[in-house]
Amino acid sequence: MRFAAFSISGERRVGMVSADGANFHPINMSTERAAKGVAALIGMSDAEIADVSSPIPAHEVTLEAPFPRPGRNIFCVGKNYLDHAHEFSNSGFDSSAAASTVPKAPIIFSKVPETVIAHGEKIIIDPTVSAAIDYEAELAVIIGTGGRSISKADAMNHVWGYTLVNDVTARDLQGKYSQWLIGKSQDTFCPMGPFAVTRDELDIGDTEIRCVVNGEIRQQANTRDLIFDVPTIIETLSAGITLLPGDIIATGTPAGVGIGFDPPRYLRHGDVVRVEIDVIGSLENQCEERPS
Ligand code: MG
Repeated sequence: MRFAAFSISGERRVGMVSADGANFHPINMSTERAAKGVAALIGMSDAEIADVSSPIPAHEVTLEAPFPRPGRNIFCVGKNYLDHAHEFSNSGFDSSAAASTVPKAPIIFSKVPETVIAHGEKIIIDPTVSAAIDYEAELAVIIGTGGRSISKADAMNHVWGYTLVNDVTARDLQGKYSQWLIGKSQDTFCPMGPFAVTRDELDIGDTEIRCVVNGEIRQQANTRDLIFDVPTIIETLSAGITLLPGDIIATGTPAGVGIGFDPPRYLRHGDVVRVEIDVIGSLENQCEERPS
């Protein structure tokens, strides 16, 4: 199943998305519950989720990110596709490159929850802060059942589903500071959505992901090429950190980001970035230069 968070008449609702994406079927729940976005569905029974009102045409609502404000930072994995690990280490911005080009253990960082924006919202480029803003198409895992010390074998039982994120990055800030949080957590730097899908919708070992900038395919890869797969990532994170329902884990980006080109192709005012996984949808955001 595929779900959306959206607002209509100023109120947030959560709905099931029709196969063609043209209609949302709002799920009956309290306003307080719906305020959590798709996180409201975690722990609900199939019967509760099937309790829907009449469909609303998608064009009549304002789409929101599936998790408009995650409960805590979004966990992210760095350098998790081989070709991207090489292009990033060769770019000169990799403050972790001294350790090794290809990581021996997952590189984990995070983005603050306030970075999240919806499909259709603007990625803000602030030239007074960064001159090197880049895109990163990523599959994101949504944790359904929390836990600590989760084994690889059991990891997928803790996954509720998936969404898409664009892990927008200020490369100059990522390179300047050894910790990546500042370069990754600028306002508007986590477009998410457009929808979230349940775990059964997607073959985690064989899913194609793309990133298209101004109509040109820049990234195209398959999750089978992840260096650390989803069970390994969950085992790594949960060894000492209790994962919570609604946690989001961005699994890393493939080759083809702006710094992979010579000269680099950073995002500019007016650029349109589209991140796609067929069963989830297309997450499209335009860049807007807005000095602070
Ligand atoms: Mg990333």
